[in-house]
Amino acid sequence: MTRVLPALFLLAVASAAHAEITPAELDRAASALQPRVIEWRRDFHRHPELANREFRTSARVAEHLRSLGLEVRTGIAHTGVAAVIEGGRPGPTILLRADMDGLPVTERTDVPFRSVATGEFRGQTVGVMHACGHDGHMAILMGAAEILVRMRDRLPGRILLVFQPAEEGAPDGERGGAPLMIEEGLLDIAKPEAAFGLHLMSSLNTGTIGLRAGPFMAGSDFFQITVTGRQSHGSRPWNSVDPVVVASEIVGALQTIVSRELDITKQPAVITVGAFRAGVRHNIIPQSAELLGTIRTFSPEMRAQVIDRIGALATGIAAAHGATAEFTTAPHPNPVLVNDPSLTARVLPSLEAVVGRDNVRTTTLQTVAEDFAHIAQAVPSVYYFVGITPKGQDPATAPDNHADLFYVDEDGIAVGLRSLLHVAVDYLSTRASEQTTKGN
Ligand SMILES: [Zn+2]
Ligand SMILES: [Zn+2]
Repeated sequence: MTRVLPALFLLAVASAAHAEITPAELDRAASALQPRVIEWRRDFHRHPELANREFRTSARVAEHLRSLGLEVRTGIAHTGVAAVIEGGRPGPTILLRADMDGLPVTERTDVPFRSVATGEFRGQTVGVMHACGHDGHMAILMGAAEILVRMRDRLPGRILLVFQPAEEGAPDGERGGAPLMIEEGLLDIAKPEAAFGLHLMSSLNTGTIGLRAGPFMAGSDFFQITVTGRQSHGSRPWNSVDPVVVASEIVGALQTIVSRELDITKQPAVITVGAFRAGVRHNIIPQSAELLGTIRTFSPEMRAQVIDRIGALATGIAAAHGATAEFTTAPHPNPVLVNDPSLTARVLPSLEAVVGRDNVRTTTLQTVAEDFAHIAQAVPSVYYFVGITPKGQDPATAPDNHADLFYVDEDGIAVGLRSLLHVAVDYLSTRASEQTTKGN
């Protein structure tokens, strides 16, 4: 008892001097700032930029963070921006992340701030659109930064704010995104013990949040198979080794990996051939054929098994026909995005406080990939989805993320802002008080 009493006394003195930041206070600040957050989001929406080309975007972000009095690091992994909010009280360090890139999509919505921007993608001029909600992610994190800076005297610990380029993948021949930011020292700016990120998702209604503890979003690998045969006149196939027929057989055989070889009671997996390129003319059997595809898996073991089997089937089938097949996967694949189970359990009450217990859903495994997975590999993390399909509309019929009609209900952005504030402040406060208790 004698040991506890001075500790309690000190705590009482400390909290009188530094009142805790309350959830109600965060909500009030978020709703007061909401009009400006929406303004920022619409500005980004009107001016989307492609991966590794987020020049105007990152300048806007940096300008805002500087206006808050923060020391801003720019040019990380091309256009990445980072800054640290130093709290006035001792506590741990956390990381909050937003992504910044738009997509090569020509917008077809009729919102007044519709994008008419264009950019260059694979040598072609294309429409550019924030069709994945990254405009909202940036606006949310800028809003959270502003609110947390205002409360910083009472904030325990520090927050590393990360605005990341090229989440959707760097242009051909370039690197980018979360792995490059980490390589360029992102996690040395301040060493976080936990990281949080969110994604606006059309598959959920506004007012709902979705997430999953453990493996959540798939690891993704790009693969390419080049089949080389022998070219001949289309009228004399016996003089050829036809790579179109061989590659077709490979495409068919790849379907048996998931259905016949993987133990799908453990996890699902996906193998998709999305491009089949061969030939130029109806009566020429070409020299080669090329298959491009994607692999989605939820464990390193299953990933290794799939890669091994694709290689074996492709080369074996080609050899049986007297052709050759070269199978390659791209370096730097997205790993599985794993939500740290105990961290997920810890932040769940914060999310429930924002949208209500019934509105925090456990999602199915998501076969889409997300490069926040690289951060989650380095730091225990929680990543979650925030619904943006208007209430009353069936999310199953809403245009998907990446669609040209993708639409964000801006009430969902308010949920995003409140949830990020609650998660960050609750985490810092509870961890700081644990550390204080331990210290005594
Ligand atoms: Zn996307
Ligand atoms: Zn996205």
